[in-house]
Amino acid sequence: MQIRLNNVSFSYENSSLALENVNFEYDKKDILALIGPNGGGKSTLLRLILGLLKPSLGEVKTSATLGYVPQFSPLNTSFAPTLFDVVLMGRLGKKIFYSKEDKQIAKECIKDVGLEGLENAKITALSGGQKQRAFIARALACKAEILLLDEPTASLDPKNSAQIYELLLDLNKQGIGVILASHDTAILRFFADKIAFVNKKIHMHENKRVSVDFKELQASEHFCEVELASLACCCSHE
Ligand code: ADP
Ligand code: MG
Repeated sequence: MQIRLNNVSFSYENSSLALENVNFEYDKKDILALIGPNGGGKSTLLRLILGLLKPSLGEVKTSATLGYVPQFSPLNTSFAPTLFDVVLMGRLGKKIFYSKEDKQIAKECIKDVGLEGLENAKITALSGGQKQRAFIARALACKAEILLLDEPTASLDPKNSAQIYELLLDLNKQGIGVILASHDTAILRFFADKIAFVNKKIHMHENKRVSVDFKELQASEHFCEVELASLACCCSHE
């Protein structure tokens, strides 16, 4: 067990309950997908696990270092930092100066997400998929054992989304836990070990995920939502 929620209820100030009596345990060997309607409480649940919100009732216990990839990472376009600076921010904590080790770790995290060589590129100059990788690298830079991601592919096309899923599956193979909120139920077949339907209350499902060869799947120049959902090329033409 690395995360445990006991009888957790939460409401924002002057609002009705956003989450009611939530109980579950999470182990980082699993990929957990949070699905459910808009306003169902997925983002709230992530913020409670991260300790950014305190439960109104019940308790949240965590015994792992958590890394967060929020839904919309704000980018200041007038002062755009480089990719390296963004990832280095993941090391900041309470200190002011970065050590040599911090810089080394930032470099490694950039490599881990496949952005090696782009360290000095302005973050605003990166593509949507590359930006999302940068924010995953920043979350990894705090030596995260579990990544929590809020709709990380919401603004990405199918090819870039598939690459993010491939990266997260790979990180999970290396022992990093993944908890991901998503609208995209098409991914569940190949992506999740556990699926929580979040709609004020939680319904947990077990899932046997199938393995996918993303390289082969994306080899055809035609790759769209249909391929991602069916895990095969289904077009009528060669
Ligand atoms: P989801 O991520 O599943 O779309 P949210 O966790 O964002 O759901 O929202 C759950 C409920 O809490 C909704 O009713 C939403 O309107 C409300 N809510 C979310 N954020 C806030 C906030 N900062 N202040 C007040 N209410 C909020
Ligand atoms: Mg949300």
